[in-house]
Amino acid sequence: MKELVIDLEVEKTEILKRYRALLRASKSTLQKGDKRMIRKAFDMALESHKDMRRKSGEPYIYHPIAVAQIAAEEIGLGTTSIVCALLHDVVEDTDVTLDDIEQEFGKKVAKIIDGLTKISGVFDTNSSLQAENFRKMLLTLADDVRVILIKLADRLHNMRTMEFMPRDKQLKLSSETVYLYAPLAHRLGLYAIKSELEDLSMKYMERETYQFIKNKLNEKKAEREKFIRDFIEPVKKVLNGQGLDADLFGRPKSIHSIWNKMKKKSIPFEEVYDLFAIRVILDSTPENEKADCWKAYSIVTDLYRPNPDRLRDWISSPKANGYESLHTTVMGPRGQWVEVQIRTKRMNEIAEKGFAAHWKYKESSTDSGLDQWVQKVRDMLKNPDSNALEFLDDFKMNLFSDEIFIFTPKGALIQLPLNATALDFAFEIHTDVGASCIGAKVNHKLVPLSYKLQNGDQVEIITSSKQAPKEDWLNFVVTAKAKAKIKSALKEEKRRVAEDGKEILERKLKSLKITYNSENIHKLSYYFKLASTQDLFFNIAKGLIDMKDLKDYQQSEKVVENKPQDRIENEQLQGLLRNIKAKDSDMLMIGEDMKKID
Ligand code: MN
Repeated sequence: MKELVIDLEVEKTEILKRYRALLRASKSTLQKGDKRMIRKAFDMALESHKDMRRKSGEPYIYHPIAVAQIAAEEIGLGTTSIVCALLHDVVEDTDVTLDDIEQEFGKKVAKIIDGLTKISGVFDTNSSLQAENFRKMLLTLADDVRVILIKLADRLHNMRTMEFMPRDKQLKLSSETVYLYAPLAHRLGLYAIKSELEDLSMKYMERETYQFIKNKLNEKKAEREKFIRDFIEPVKKVLNGQGLDADLFGRPKSIHSIWNKMKKKSIPFEEVYDLFAIRVILDSTPENEKADCWKAYSIVTDLYRPNPDRLRDWISSPKANGYESLHTTVMGPRGQWVEVQIRTKRMNEIAEKGFAAHWKYKESSTDSGLDQWVQKVRDMLKNPDSNALEFLDDFKMNLFSDEIFIFTPKGALIQLPLNATALDFAFEIHTDVGASCIGAKVNHKLVPLSYKLQNGDQVEIITSSKQAPKEDWLNFVVTAKAKAKIKSALKEEKRRVAEDGKEILERKLKSLKITYNSENIHKLSYYFKLASTQDLFFNIAKGLIDMKDLKDYQQSEKVVENKPQDRIENEQLQGLLRNIKAKDSDMLMIGEDMKKID
């Protein structure tokens, strides 16, 4: 085994070097007194982590410094976040308490650290607990988004320095990262971090494929670079000639996204045509940026023929995470499709750094897509009925999906995920509108509830006071909001019907001279193969179990009574176990009952 040689003097110099690099990275946001605050946080972190080392053998303090640097440099966060990043592992791993933090750095910092400490165990133990913890983590997001941003910086640094971890830990961290952290980064508009997280996860989870694609990319690197130069040159010339100050370059796609494309289209590496995109970054003024982008578009498409189906205008309608850009795909000089992304410097910074940069540029803080999204997360979390795992799935789905833009009859714009239906739209407008929706008019034509909306549709919802949410609605709604509202309405309705069924059953049992007690009720549920006594009452109320069925049961009971004693007990035990198991999959069982009604 290689022995670790530690030279404390050398380390001390290195720590200070890294600290100074952090200060340089945060320079642009520093105000009076900030430097002193950061120094204080650094000193506290250094002191409290002093006896700790990372798996690589390096001093532990390298980690919080690196996390703070990512927060400052790659996410664009300010002093409070840098202080919190430096201290993010202090409460969790050392003797320092939250009270100490509050005393030294104030309430705000203490609250963020508290959030970071609480979510540190998010992925421990079993999966449903993880989901519950993830839910808690998002609750802190609703409190202060900086908690999540620092958590992402923490995760990114851990992923970057994972080579010394045991293999099982690498796999665990990688799968969490690709399952949750990357989509979260995506949703917050941190594209660069999202891509890097995905690539790093793939590097550990799909080692061979990762290496294969990486090698392939290297092989043709020189050829690709020449192609990009040839493509860019004439464009740049005309742009400059028309007075546009533009920076053009080729942007390689991530290994993970190339792999995704290979899988999605079942094609070999050689057939993936868009290994890179051309980016046109314009230096423009706020008043001219939209016009300048379209001018650049016009120049690009004069030189290269565009594919009319591939024009995306996220300048007129930015994505909910703040992304603005003009995308087009054009036919390159060698008969090859090339994606071109046109945007201004301001838009580019938002695209790369996401949320934080977004804040920096925004004049008013009302009504941005991100605000609406955070509000949606809050609503979703408030729903006490939603089961944590389901919630996680719905949430993930909403993180990943692309958006479409739909208009109300009065012209208001509503954002929905791709594949959203008229019913999703109705629930988006208001819960009551969704619950009483019987149909919709899309662009003045009558359509069913399940109609899949297209970008730009104008939708009018038709309601009726006699309508109530139906089980099969769950088959075509896609938004978490609609799903949650329908489920809770169905649950409530079922509870109400079961209430009636209970009374009916009491009367019927009385006439059969069977005692109404909990033992008999459970026996009955088991006999009719139902998941719960509520299902039993429900089936009675709906007439799915009638007097004849109850008489059959009575008969079978008599037969059972003749059986040897221990066998009965065994059967009853089985029934009981079944009931317990079935309760967990409550929704599934309701689904089966409904089929019988059909
Ligand atoms: Mn950490």
